Parts: sequence; structure tokens; C-alpha cells
Amino acid sequence: AAWIEQFATSAEGGRPAPRPTGRHADRFAGQLVLVTGAGSGIGRATASAFAEAGARVIAVDRDAEAAARTAELSRLAGATDAWAEPADVSDEQAMEKLAEKVHDEHGVLDVLVNNAGIGLSGSFFATTTDDWRKVLDVNLWGVIHGCRLFGARMAERDQGGHIVNVASAAAYQPSRALPAYSTSKAAVLMLSECLRAELAGQGIGVTAVCPGFVNTSITSTARFAGVDEEEQRRRRQRTARLYGLRNYPPEKVADAILDAVADNRAVAPVTPEARGARLLYRFAPGL
Ligand code: NAD
Repeated sequence: AAWIEQFATSAEGGRPAPRPTGRHADRFAGQLVLVTGAGSGIGRATASAFAEAGARVIAVDRDAEAAARTAELSRLAGATDAWAEPADVSDEQAMEKLAEKVHDEHGVLDVLVNNAGIGLSGSFFATTTDDWRKVLDVNLWGVIHGCRLFGARMAERDQGGHIVNVASAAAYQPSRALPAYSTSKAAVLMLSECLRAELAGQGIGVTAVCPGFVNTSITSTARFAGVDEEEQRRRRQRTARLYGLRNYPPEKVADAILDAVADNRAVAPVTPEARGARLLYRFAPGL
């Protein structure tokens, strides 16, 4: 995906890109893939990677311009087609409208990536009721809406498919700095496991992906990272230890997502922290 950004901003930008020959080339040819939070970071990298693999990509973000840019990048990357849909995943009515539009205009999804999320740091007692609601509304309810509205149609169609929910390593690493965020992500893990059990009979895979500290806008905003630099340093170090990567780019998470969907099987965690959770999680990058 990095080359796509480069290409699009270069003097040659705007001309169709050469057909990608990378590891994902044509892996998802013609499949319909919807990514939420696709306007930035992991979501944009994931949309671009599916595009590179020949998918039809729907980029959803509450930031309409950012979603449009991702759709443009996806077309440059080789998507069979790409569309931008502005929507707030925490807004049930907006998500209902989106699902109706997508099903009418494009059909049932082959792959849904519930990636949209917001960060929030602050100790438990510094976190207001309003803060809790905001984080749970986006990080948990956003995933619930996506799974219900798109997953139900996948199940009805009965031709398989895959749902990826982007959780976080924060889901199983207790932290004094991120109680609301971590709780929202732990809930996403359990939701994914329950749904996986329910959809297994229909050949629909459900994967919760748990990235460590990735360099994106979520980790550079004051509400998430700037509050406690020491905590930030600890997280980077832990990510480097867990995943063997010092600078952990969003493209790595995108690769893990595409691998998980293509393999349609659990990837066993190997880290000491995750060992106890072996049966619970489908795990992510580099493992
Ligand atoms: P990011 O801020 O770069 O991207 C998030 C995108 O989601 C943005 O484009 C934003 O506009 C969009 N978004 C936010 N709220 C939305 C809503 N209500 N409706 C629709 N779109 C919305 O962050 P990122 O790091 O790419 O995060 C993507 C996901 O990865 C999040 O769920 C995050 O919790 C998770 N994650 C990130 C990290 C990390 O270190 N960056 C680690 C683990 C998990």
C-alpha cells in the first residue's frame, strides 16, 4: 500500500497503476469487501491491500473526504471497483441505511472489516461517563451494528464469507492508562468468538485481530498517546517484543487481515501474554 500512496502523489499520479504483482495479487478478485474506518491508518492500508488483490472495495468512514481518497487510492491499486460511503458506525440508523444501499447496489458482502475505532486514555477515575459512552459507542456498538446488519445477509446467502473485527493487544493487556479503550476491545474479542461459533456452520469465518502499537493518527493524538509518554514508550517496547517490529506500520496489520481471510483459520498466538488465551483469539501480525 505504501507504493500506492507514493504513486498517487508522484508526477505520474492519476494514471492507472501497473497491475500489482505482490503477494496479494488477484487473491480476492471480484470479491466484495467493506472496510470501516477506511479513511486512515489500518483501514486505509487494508482497503488498499484488498484493492491490490483485485477486490471490489467499499471504503466507509465518518470523514467523507478521507473515504473518497481511499476509494481513489484503491482504484489506483487495482481494485475491480471502489466506492466511498460516508457513515458513522456508531449511528444505528446511518448503518441501517448504509447496509440497505450496499445490498441494493452491490449485493451481499464477501468480507466485512469492522475497523473503525477511537482511542482514549486516562485513568479509570479520570474517565467520564461521557468518555465511556463515546468509546463504547464507536469501538463496540460500531462492531455490533456492522456484524448484525451485514453478517445476517451473509448468513442468509449461505455462501460463506468472512468478518474481521479489529480489536487490539490492549484487549488482553491490562493498563492503568486505557481502561475504557481496553474494555471496549476485550468486548470485541468475546463478541467475535461468540459470533464465530454461531456462524461456523455457514462457513463464515470471524477473526478478531489484535495489533500492538501501530504508527497511525490514533496513537499520535493527545487523547490517546500524549497524556503519558512513559506509557507510550512502554507500549512501543512491548509491541517490538511481541511482534519483533520496532516500527510497526499499518500495512503489516493489513497483511495479517488478508492472510486470515484467505486461510479462513485461526492463527495461534505464541506470546507468553497470549498463551492463556490460545483458544480465544484469532491472532494477528507476525505470529
Ligand atoms: P486512525 O485514527 O488512523 O483511523 C481510524 C479511522 O476510523 C479514521 O479514518 C476515522 O475517521 C475513522 N472513524 C473513527 N470513528 C468513526 C466512526 N464513528 N464511524 C466511522 N469512521 C470512524 O487509527 P488506526 O490506528 O488506523 O485504527 C484503526 C483500528 O485499529 C481502530 O479500531 C483501533 O482501535 C485499532 N488499533 C489501532 C492500534 C494502533 O496502535 N494504531 C493498535 C491496535 C488496534
